Amino acid sequence: MGFFERIFREPRWGVHPDNHKRPAADAPLRVLPPPARLYLPLHQHVGGAARPVVLVGQKVLKGQLLAEAQGNISAPIHAPVSGTVAAIGEVTAPHPSGLGFAAISIDSDGEGRWIETEPALDPFALAPEEIARRTAAAGVVGLGGATFPAAVKFALGKRLAVSTLIVNGGECEPYLSSDDRIMRDHADQVVDGARIVMHAIGAREALVGIEDNKPEAIAAMQKAAAAYPEVKIRPVPARYPMGSDKQLIQTLTGKEVPADARAAEVGVLVHNVSTCAAVHQAIRLGRPLVERIVTINGGAVARPGNIFAPLGTLADELLAFCGLKETPARLILGGPMMGTPLLHGKVPLVKGASGILAFDAREAAVPKAGPCIRCGSCTQACPMGLLPLEMAARIRAGDLDGAVDFALSDCIACGCCAYVCPSHIPLVQYFSHAKGELAARERARLRTEAAKRLAEARLARLARESREKAAAAARRKAERDAAKAKAAARAEGAPA
Ligand code: SF4
Ligand code: SF4
Repeated sequence: MGFFERIFREPRWGVHPDNHKRPAADAPLRVLPPPARLYLPLHQHVGGAARPVVLVGQKVLKGQLLAEAQGNISAPIHAPVSGTVAAIGEVTAPHPSGLGFAAISIDSDGEGRWIETEPALDPFALAPEEIARRTAAAGVVGLGGATFPAAVKFALGKRLAVSTLIVNGGECEPYLSSDDRIMRDHADQVVDGARIVMHAIGAREALVGIEDNKPEAIAAMQKAAAAYPEVKIRPVPARYPMGSDKQLIQTLTGKEVPADARAAEVGVLVHNVSTCAAVHQAIRLGRPLVERIVTINGGAVARPGNIFAPLGTLADELLAFCGLKETPARLILGGPMMGTPLLHGKVPLVKGASGILAFDAREAAVPKAGPCIRCGSCTQACPMGLLPLEMAARIRAGDLDGAVDFALSDCIACGCCAYVCPSHIPLVQYFSHAKGELAARERARLRTEAAKRLAEARLARLARESREKAAAAARRKAERDAAKAKAAARAEGAPA
């Protein structure tokens, strides 16, 4: 790309953090032998937790349903190995709170015996609804981190007559390269999955956005898509957060998704490259989502790289497989900008986890925060066009409603503002905390309203019961009076 072309194409938002992707991205993909025990949380997706359908002690095959989806937005969980259900209990959640999460544990028998699968020889002969049904049954969710059930998105795309599928190969988070690796090693699966998704939603074209710092992935995808002119590979400038849906849509199509709207409402649907590969597996091979590629990286890791691992593997086991040079100073699930800090490594690999980072002391160091000098850098960097310094000032003053007036709810917690802040103010922490407070406030409001509705319903029921009792008493009295009158009349008419 020429200098001027680049200047004009270069977005005005975002940041250029050191990407730290190599050498992990260049290391050949390794396969983790299944650990002795796996821990499958029932809630690995947006929506309702899955409900167990197996019992402790039951023998299961690889790919067998362990927990079924509950409700319209949910996803089932399947066994990543053949073996025995060891427990249905709790495991540490992949969440900073470190709280327990309901989970099913499986002891592997080491044989890896699959259930009988239902492959589709010609996916394009299947009705779109059947593609959606099989994708939902396979437990496929957004693997880029969003974890929204893929089939629910298909239905939305079909309903809103989406014409363009955007395949997200942005992977802009530093240190992560699992999407890069899947495009390099399994480009055919990604392209085939994208074509199946197009068929499911009725899209005419697929635009595959890949950051231009991944030349090997771009080349592999161009080769895989060469026979399919409807699948277009589009290099995009490497800039964080290019992998965010709204930013990628704008860069590829020029369309802006309004703050309170969904992408489908502007005629596009976004699926991550790894999600497309999972759709290929689910439809072509009939295999549910039980494994994924995860990046293991960070200064404390001896042999960083990408590992193909069963879901439910503990972070500690993945780190041990790659070797540790030192005790990690910080563990993160996901990337350093938007990932989740982990309290320890006894946390299982879940569907949406694209990386586990083990930082050394230098990487984990947090600079001391100073006062805001009103330089405006945070405003320039914000990809959502927000005023981070104004929102932060209101949150610091306890004025959450004031922060909402500055569009706090549009913040995607990308961390660009905090990254550029010369005073090292932890702006994203303010925003995440404020959003948590607002969510708690909303939950409390809903609880109060529900309690009020219950109290009103109880009063209405008591009033109704009292009215019914009064009516019944009046009826009985009238019957008694009538009986008395009849008896009196009989007595009067009787012979002396
Ligand atoms: S970047 Fe930091 S110092 Fe500059 S205006 Fe924003 S909050 Fe203030
Ligand atoms: S305000 Fe939110 S969306 Fe804007 S840069 Fe900061 S974290 Fe990102």
